[in-house]
Amino acid sequence: MIHVRSRGPVLPGSAIGVLGSGQLGRMFAIAARRMGYRVHTLSPDKDTPTGQVADLEVNAAYEDLDAVREFASNVSVVTFEFENVPAATASAAADCAPVRPDGRILHTTQHRLREKAFLSKAGLPLTPFRRVSSIAELAKAADELGLPAILKTADFGYDGKGQFRVTAPSELQAAWRAVGEREAVLEAFVDFDREISVVAARGFNGDFIHYGATENYHRNGILDLSIAPARVPDAVAREAVRIAQAVLAELEVVGVLCVEFFVCTDGRLLINELAPRPHNSGHFTFDANLTSQFEQQLRAVCLLPLGAVTQFTPAAMANLLGDLWDAHEPDWATAVSVPDVKLHLYGKLTPRPGRKMGHLTALSSTPEKALADAEHARRLLSYSQAG
Ligand code: AMP
Repeated sequence: MIHVRSRGPVLPGSAIGVLGSGQLGRMFAIAARRMGYRVHTLSPDKDTPTGQVADLEVNAAYEDLDAVREFASNVSVVTFEFENVPAATASAAADCAPVRPDGRILHTTQHRLREKAFLSKAGLPLTPFRRVSSIAELAKAADELGLPAILKTADFGYDGKGQFRVTAPSELQAAWRAVGEREAVLEAFVDFDREISVVAARGFNGDFIHYGATENYHRNGILDLSIAPARVPDAVAREAVRIAQAVLAELEVVGVLCVEFFVCTDGRLLINELAPRPHNSGHFTFDANLTSQFEQQLRAVCLLPLGAVTQFTPAAMANLLGDLWDAHEPDWATAVSVPDVKLHLYGKLTPRPGRKMGHLTALSSTPEKALADAEHARRLLSYSQAG
């Protein structure tokens, strides 16, 4: 069947296809179903966070291009919830339905070197780096950039996976082995003051909205806490938004994209990485903003006008990792007794250390109070286990 591309908006009642089935797809599906859309999800897994709230959960490998085409031919638009969907999958889907954001954006952002080449070409500030494809090149790069530095696999990295910190030349060999002796990126270690991100959306007509700068704290390379708005000077937040706007415009994104930054001790901003989708650091928008990042993605990919981003109060988000389960189920009842704290769980059946199982969002009169409340509620989850 030849797909006829509709130029008009995809309206409520239509089905939307999501490639991937994790928590981002789940929150997207909740936003979409609230507005009367149907949601189909495709991934190799069963009883998934997205599948549990979708109308239809299709189990197929991303490499099964016939299954991907059939999936796409039953929906009005296809989007994705994680950027490591193979480019061939996005392109097979595009045979049968519009894919937004465009597969070209996936291609750029799922490979660190392509992403860095794009950012350099656009004249945007990024961490000093070198491409390395042999141990000799790695030694030369370490010499040029200085140590400590971080060796990262060029492809398929997220949440600090595939990253190795090198502090002395004697560690280079082990780091090279650890990345699988294949194309990688050596990045100078940034002695940052703090990390911030900007989640933003761009509509089909070029409209741009953003959620301001959010302050982020990581543990073991995984986001631990976010605070919105970020406690940085206004000029730094404005500059971060300006850079984010340039990224979305240059990439011609129709959808949501997150830019993660290091704020250097002198206030300069360096881009760490891009995620062409809603981002963990924007989860607070589900509770704290008039239009969440998930509804914004929905509106953008359906070619509807973007929604107002008005933030009701300062907010903080604390991630809940599988480590919290330890020997017992966390004490949900006590944690939700903290006023102004919202609990989100993703429906994952097996808690594992480092696995994102859910998050808490605290809303309060100041960012500091929101942070204190989110951390307090998270501590309460494990207190009763000790007793
Ligand atoms: P990534 O998956 O590349 O975002 O890395 C996860 C986290 O590791 C970042 O948010 C930082 O906290 C840390 N990190 C990554 N690259 C660097 C770097 N070049 N300098 C300092 N810290 C880094």
